Amino acid sequence: MAQKTTFAMVLTAPGVLEPRDIPLPQITDDRALLRIEACGICGTDCEQFKSGLGLPMPHIPGHEPLGVIEAIGDAAALRWGVDVGDRVAVETLLSCHICKRCLSGEYHLCANRQIYSTIPLAEGHGLWGAYANHMVLDSRSILHRMDKSIPAQIAVMYNPLGAGFRWAVELSQTKFGDSILIQGPGQRGLAAVIAAKSVGAKTIIVSGLAADQNKLNLAKEFGATDVIDVENENLRERIREITGGEGVNTVLDVSPGLDGPVNDAITAARVGGTVVLAGVKGFKPMARFVSDKIVFKELRVLGAFGVTSSGYAKAIDLIHGGTVPLEKMHTHDFTVADAALAIRTLGREIPGEESIHSCLIPEH
Ligand SMILES: [Zn+2]
Ligand SMILES: [Zn+2]
Repeated sequence: MAQKTTFAMVLTAPGVLEPRDIPLPQITDDRALLRIEACGICGTDCEQFKSGLGLPMPHIPGHEPLGVIEAIGDAAALRWGVDVGDRVAVETLLSCHICKRCLSGEYHLCANRQIYSTIPLAEGHGLWGAYANHMVLDSRSILHRMDKSIPAQIAVMYNPLGAGFRWAVELSQTKFGDSILIQGPGQRGLAAVIAAKSVGAKTIIVSGLAADQNKLNLAKEFGATDVIDVENENLRERIREITGGEGVNTVLDVSPGLDGPVNDAITAARVGGTVVLAGVKGFKPMARFVSDKIVFKELRVLGAFGVTSSGYAKAIDLIHGGTVPLEKMHTHDFTVADAALAIRTLGREIPGEESIHSCLIPEH
């Protein structure tokens, strides 16, 4: 009998995604085969597609998988407490779980980590990404159970919502009554609004560009108390007005802009406040950076890399709770074969289309 295969889109060079049929491997004792139901698409996908991110090619992108266990080894079933037919969200990072950083609880900073969606096709079975009908779950994976009654398009939001909880709540220690400025109203900014709202933040301000009007309106629906169009309003003046001159407890930057947003963040934070930088800027240097402002205001400036289990767990609780109209954030479904179109739509390259949260839905 011929070996079974699965369909995948493979990044063979920057800007080139090719359809392939890839053999399904035997599932060993410590692994599982995931039948993918949805793969979320975010700004990282755009960067990966356009620049290749310096990754070895070819590889299967897709770092936000949701799926159902189709086959599983006995040891893996025992380790993860899941079985065939269970629906799971899959964490992106594959950490070693034995290095110093892992043992200190910072497994996302593991010295030996690999990341799903970045591992070459040539390594082992090759099924390391979710632009596919199936992927293989490595023994290092961390899985979260997800209720099957939730539409895949909503369930797959565990990924941006997990970032919202880690970046806007956990790292910044946002609590009831606090104020937060979220710079960038994309899916991660909106997820941050939802997360900040869920812990009782009193003042939630979201800033964006003039072209972000729909997203800023949506931010209000999700609980933002104020929105700022930075192209037509003076952000610093508005923050002074809204906070009575004090500044905000926390600024979360998830925007791609460099000098403007980072300087604004340092200005908008109150004395003793926190700035969390999560938007990546293509490794460009900053022009007008005055570090003394950080000293004199005694700011905590934190980098946010990825999401950890506690953030995902909160996100999944929120999804299971069903009280937030997450469907309002979901704009597009694409087939796996249309991955490049999904990326171009998110990148605003398709006239008349505005993507907020979109995902690939495999055709099984
Ligand atoms: Zn992502
Ligand atoms: Zn490690």
